[in-house]
Amino acid sequence: MDTITVTSPLLPDLEEFQGLLREIWDSKWITNNGSFHQRLEEALAEYLKVPYVSLFTNGTLPLITALQALRITGEVITTPYSFVATTHALWWNGIKPVFVDIDPATGGIDPDCIEAAITPKTTAIMPVHVYGKPCDTERIQAIADKYGLRVIYDAAHAFGVEVDGKSILNAGDMSTLSFHATKVYNTIEGGAMVMHDAKTKQRIDYLKNFGFAGETEVVAPGINSKMDEMRSAYGLLNLLQVDAAIAARRKVAVAYREALRDTEGITFFDDMPGVRHNYSYFPIFVDAEKYGMTRDELYFRMRDAGVLGRRYFYPLITEFSTYRGLPSAVPENLPHAHRMAATVICLPMHHALTQDDVERVINCIVR
Ligand SMILES: *Cc1c(COP(=O)(O)O)cnc(C)c1O
Repeated sequence: MDTITVTSPLLPDLEEFQGLLREIWDSKWITNNGSFHQRLEEALAEYLKVPYVSLFTNGTLPLITALQALRITGEVITTPYSFVATTHALWWNGIKPVFVDIDPATGGIDPDCIEAAITPKTTAIMPVHVYGKPCDTERIQAIADKYGLRVIYDAAHAFGVEVDGKSILNAGDMSTLSFHATKVYNTIEGGAMVMHDAKTKQRIDYLKNFGFAGETEVVAPGINSKMDEMRSAYGLLNLLQVDAAIAARRKVAVAYREALRDTEGITFFDDMPGVRHNYSYFPIFVDAEKYGMTRDELYFRMRDAGVLGRRYFYPLITEFSTYRGLPSAVPENLPHAHRMAATVICLPMHHALTQDDVERVINCIVR
């Protein structure tokens, strides 16, 4: 029997892509703010309902660059329940991560824990819209305003997510996206930063091109994170089919929920009122006592049946050697994050899952 993978990349039509490659070959302009790059930035800003987008080569460099651009130093309050890149971006800037616990209702940073972790060295908050579920952006902003802190959202999971018709990517000072192959929308490797004004976009565009502000002028110690024309063209084609992909994912989520709703010891998130979700992940949480099997037992049982889930996010970032010595990384500080990491399995979730695939996944879990 075929293996059911946790994700599968959304690929553009090959012939259409070849047509655009022909245009690039003819133009001989293959990178450095070419016409596909410009078109993709504009198309993404429109699709995402945000004022400005700057493309990057992946989703990690915009995090690193946002911290540079805002001159963030000292300590930044963040979540242990994320992909390691969130914290690595702080480390690469010589910033000390201060971990606080999550709200078990969403998996996002718990605003109640933020205030208690603020010290005179705190300069910013870096929350993550984990699984594309919106953080409590209003409360986080209120705390930031009260203490004069910046807010940078790692929105790698939150492509196209809206609350009451408005993009959550407009929250905070900046938001960053990842367009990695495994994400809802991909450019193979790729990413972006979302910002509020033209001046900031200008500065970010300098920073991602070594700090060049003109032929002979370098205004900052920038980095190289320019997206090339091939991947920009690929991204333009994928943007045309991302709504259909999200609709297909939604069907899978609805089927999972229907089938698992009455399974004792298995819980999952429901849609939030007023939110346009992107169904980027479908995490379930296993209560070993009620379910009669541990998370890992279920995970390996699924694997034996050719169904590849993912224990995402496990282990917590605070368990990795680089970070576990930090005072805020002690488990007693992060009980909800530890519980979530110990019980989670992300089920297969992508646009190409068939009804049979979904049934096979469900049959591994429902007994
Ligand atoms: C994928 C991801 C990133 C990193 O993105 P890349 O494009 O792989 O560099 C950062 N943060 C989170 C939460 C992610 O899931």
